[in-house]
Amino acid sequence: MSDRDPDCLFCQIVAGEVPSDRVHEDDDVIAFRDVNPQAPTHVLVIPRQHVADAHSLADEDGPLLASLFGAIRRVAAAEGLENGYRVITNVGAEAGQSVFHLHLHLIGGRPMRWPPG
Ligand code: 5GP
Ligand code: ZN
Repeated sequence: MSDRDPDCLFCQIVAGEVPSDRVHEDDDVIAFRDVNPQAPTHVLVIPRQHVADAHSLADEDGPLLASLFGAIRRVAAAEGLENGYRVITNVGAEAGQSVFHLHLHLIGGRPMRWPPG
């Protein structure tokens, strides 16, 4: 796992080279609104360091996972999602991953259907 991939869009967002609407940040993660929202709240939570996807995480990345889900919890509370929300991470092209820097989608503010497509 490297700190930064120069060709990665989300690494450029972390660096502030590509603008984003940030709603949370700490030492390990940032959270910003998705440019193409699928619900009233659609926020992406990402590690500052470059990790391609959830499948690339290692056993020692437990603290990073705690930071990612801590950000999810804080943003969900700030967005008033006390009735529920969904957390999704697509892994690989067949699952629909299009940006290969790990991100959790936090989606809420409307009823969700199941199963997803
Ligand atoms: P994936 O398809 O990889 O699970 O999700 C990538 C997400 O990144 C998509 O929901 C897409 O709308 C979002 N996205 C792509 N480019 C940008 C961008 O430049 N800025 C922001 N804020 N979101 C982006
Ligand atoms: Zn990256």
